[in-house]
This record gives sequence, structure tokens and C-alpha cells, in this order.
Amino acid sequence: MTATQGIVVRWTASPTADAAREAKLSSPGFGRYFTDHMITATWRTGRGWRDLAIGPLAPFSLQPAALVLHYAQTIFEGLKAYRHDDDSVWLFRPDVNARRFRTSARRLAMPELDETTFVESVAALVRADEPWVPQSTGERTLYLRPFMFATEPFLGYRPATDFRYSVIASPVGSFFADGVQGARLWVSDRFARAGRGGTGAIKCGGNYAAGLAAQKEAEEQGCQQVLHVDPTDGDTVAESGAANLFVVTADGLLVTPELGTILPGVTRDSVLALAAEHGLTAVERRVGLGELRTGCDSGEVVEMFSVGTAAVVTPVLAIQGADFSCRIGTGEPGERSLHIREHLLDIQYGRAADRYGWLHRV
Ligand code: PMP
Repeated sequence: MTATQGIVVRWTASPTADAAREAKLSSPGFGRYFTDHMITATWRTGRGWRDLAIGPLAPFSLQPAALVLHYAQTIFEGLKAYRHDDDSVWLFRPDVNARRFRTSARRLAMPELDETTFVESVAALVRADEPWVPQSTGERTLYLRPFMFATEPFLGYRPATDFRYSVIASPVGSFFADGVQGARLWVSDRFARAGRGGTGAIKCGGNYAAGLAAQKEAEEQGCQQVLHVDPTDGDTVAESGAANLFVVTADGLLVTPELGTILPGVTRDSVLALAAEHGLTAVERRVGLGELRTGCDSGEVVEMFSVGTAAVVTPVLAIQGADFSCRIGTGEPGERSLHIREHLLDIQYGRAADRYGWLHRV
């Protein structure tokens, strides 16, 4: 046993062989392979957090009545570790993920984890599994998945008293299996993701379960992702399956739906900050689907893209619903979208100046 920044490490007795690891790193896919170790900690009400440690990646043992399996008291985060050309390894804005994790916990009546412990635990796992951080070619990174769930065995309806926090890590390549350079979005008028007072603004398992039917429908319609609209009016553009949305207008505005029922994305916030450097004026406001369709037809909407940790910046080429289909701009990935994408990747991989202090060395 050793310790990294105060976190005890129990090393695996059977680490992945170098050749097997390199084979996985050379073609990682997304979320398919996992590193040798994981973080765990437990919470009990009245006792607090305990036993934060790194150990070998291993299955959990859960009671069949564990509350998470019934009432879905579970939250998660997603962030990446980037290897720079000098071999140093960095996280991108982990403090923002730490804050969002706390917000998610509060909304689901779960215990909060302090932000320092969150960031330190993620960094410690990256250090322990450092050989799993890929070289930067092909947008490869080590994706980190912190999560927390209710373990107390109880079928009564109230917040659990026992929880587990964990972090696992997965080497990833491009989010899109077939390496798409742009996406078609499907607007479902049957399945809603979030509404006022719901959980749309946090990262909890239930939101993603609720979105799966729409995602399946999108794929059946030849689209890659869903464009969710607010179910209250069927018109207010919300976000995409696992990404926030941006529209570039002919007069140089970079418009994104305002916060409220959508996830406050780390990438969204970062792109808003970079807008001015790309000659664009950032605007957060309500965006209507009707307005978007009219703007596409009139040429006022010149580009659209989705942003998120996994997919970085993905140009949106068209949006489609049961009774309409419209092309965005030329129907090819837009120049601004691609420039913003490159800019963000350059910051993350240490090729451009980190003017905002977004990088955190592990
Ligand atoms: N919206 C949803 C629903 C998401 O799952 C994600 C991915 N976390 C995002 C937006 C983008 O957030 P971020 O930029 O923090 O990854």
C-alpha cells in the first residue's frame, strides 16, 4: 500500500500487461475498456464520508433492496485527462465538475462531497493509472467517471442513509463510433427529457434513462442524436442527448439556450468564454424551434453545433422531425464550429495558451 496525496492505494495484483493495454489505447472506442484501479468511499448518515481509497477495479456487491436499484438515487460526472506533448497530464476545469456534482447531490437528497476531495480523488486515480492516459493523437484521452449511488437496503420511500462514491476511468477515442464529422438531430414530439422543477439541470441516471427511447427513435430515423425541446410548449430548444447546443447567426451572434432545465455544461461555459476571440457575440436566451427553422430557411442561421466533454464540438448539419427537415447553412461542417473545436482542443492538449487557468495538472 502507498498513498498519493493522502489517498491510500491498494495496487492490483494482476495489472493489465503493457501489450494488452497498448492494444486498447490504440483503438479505445468509447467507454469500452477500463483501467486497473478505481476510487471508492462510503457515506453513512451520522458518520460522514469514510474509507476514501484507490483499489483494484472490481464489481460492487449490492443488496437487491439497495435503494439505487429502485428509486434511482444516483448521480455522475464526466471529465477527461489529457496528455500533453511533454508527457504531463492535465484535467480540464475539474472544479466545475466538482461543483456540479454537489448540485446534483443536493437535488437528489444525497450527501455532498467537498470539491477538494472530488478533484483530488479524480487526480489520484489518474496518477495511479497514468500509463492508461493515451497520447493525444486522434483526440484520445482518459475519460473519468465519478459517480455516487444509494446502497442502503430499504424499500420505503425516503432518501437513503448509505451511499457509495466511486471513480472509474476509461480510455476513449472519438465519441462517434464511425467518426462522423457532423450530426443530424432528431426532434422527438413523443418523448420529453426535462421540464420546470424536474432534474434537467443535474447529471442523474434517471435523465439518461428517460432519454433512451428518444435516442432509439433518432437512430431509427437516420439521425445521430436527439434535439430535446421543452415539453411545456413543444418549441423551446433545450439541448442534445449528451451535449449543449449553439447557433451561429449571419450577423455574428453565438446563441445558446439559457440555463434552467438544461445541464450547465462545462464545455458550454468554455465556448461562451471563447466566443469573442472568434469574432462572435455570445448570447444566452430562449431559442424556439420555429425560430430556428425559419432562420435556417432564410439563411440567418449559418451554423449550428453541439458541445460536451465527450463529443467536444460537433457540427450539426441538419435537424429533422416527424413533419419537417431542414439543412443548417451549407449542410457541411461550419468554419466557425471547426475553429472553435480546434481552439478548445488546443487548450486542452496544451497547444494554445490557457488564458483562463482552466487546466489542472494531476
Ligand atoms: N447536456 C447533457 C444532457 C449532457 O449529458 C452533457 C454531458 N455531460 C452535456 C450537456 C455537456 O456537458 P459538459 O460540457 O459538462 O460535458
